[in-house]
Amino acid sequence: MFIQKCKNCSKEFTLKTVLKSVWVEGYSKSIKCDHCNTKHYINMTSRIFIAILIGLTIMPMIKHIPNTILYALLIIITYFLLLILTTPFIARYHVKK
Ligand SMILES: [Zn+2]
Repeated sequence: MFIQKCKNCSKEFTLKTVLKSVWVEGYSKSIKCDHCNTKHYINMTSRIFIAILIGLTIMPMIKHIPNTILYALLIIITYFLLLILTTPFIARYHVKK
């Protein structure tokens, strides 16, 4: 697992750039390489994979919600933090020609 590199100059994207792209700006916006300004768009397979991951995270939580609210919250937050931190290593981008 590694973070996507620029297809043009091979400079690695930062964790922050990819996180912002996936979780804040959404899939329609491109990532711009800060070295050579090449625009990168997320692959369809990455989008599907991330959607499945979110589903796999939420479904067991709904099935096995613990009795104590505090414990449930702790699990939900931990799951989502892990999920969010994993996405930059999953998301793959391509350059539009
Ligand atoms: Zn570049």
